[in-house]
Amino acid sequence: MQNVKIEVIQGDITKQHVDAIVNAANTSLLGGGGVDGAIHRAGGKAILEECRTIGHCETGEAVITTGGNLPARHVIHTVGPVWSKSNAAKAGELLASAYRNSLRVAVANRVQAVAFPNISTGAYRFPKEEAAKIAIREVKDFMTKDASIKLVIFVCFDDANYKLYQKTLQDEGAS
Ligand code: ADP
Repeated sequence: MQNVKIEVIQGDITKQHVDAIVNAANTSLLGGGGVDGAIHRAGGKAILEECRTIGHCETGEAVITTGGNLPARHVIHTVGPVWSKSNAAKAGELLASAYRNSLRVAVANRVQAVAFPNISTGAYRFPKEEAAKIAIREVKDFMTKDASIKLVIFVCFDDANYKLYQKTLQDEGAS
């Protein structure tokens, strides 16, 4: 991949100075716990107002709003799947869609630098190792085909995800 970069950091996604940060939202778009709550708290009410107007987002889809008071210009809200043993295969497809559709929305809005949280690996219980593989695979595939995104930062909140992402990227010889 030429002139494009994938980075992994450990930190708080609300602090990222990028064109867009991605939110692991829920289908109501009305905010929740985890990264969703942190983004709405830091970004202020302009984000929630736009979310209310949009009204709904299907699992695996993505929508975009202002970044409000955040350093990022936009928030791309995507909805990851709730994982369970009995729906693991379907959940994997939906997680891949969430990453892909977020990137599509980013491109449509001329976003060049985007930060992702570890979608579905909190309250939605997606196994972290598998989620990291899917996230990195989808982002790499997308960036190979469409070079308009120049930088993707995976912002890992917890130690386990940070280590997994570093390892997964290294194993694949990426970045
Ligand atoms: P989901 O419902 O999609 O599982 P969560 O918000 O519960 O969403 O968790 C998704 C990931 O976001 C988890 O790995 C969690 O540790 C992480 N996270 C929580 N707060 C933040 C934050 N401020 N910045 C980045 N990641 C965060």
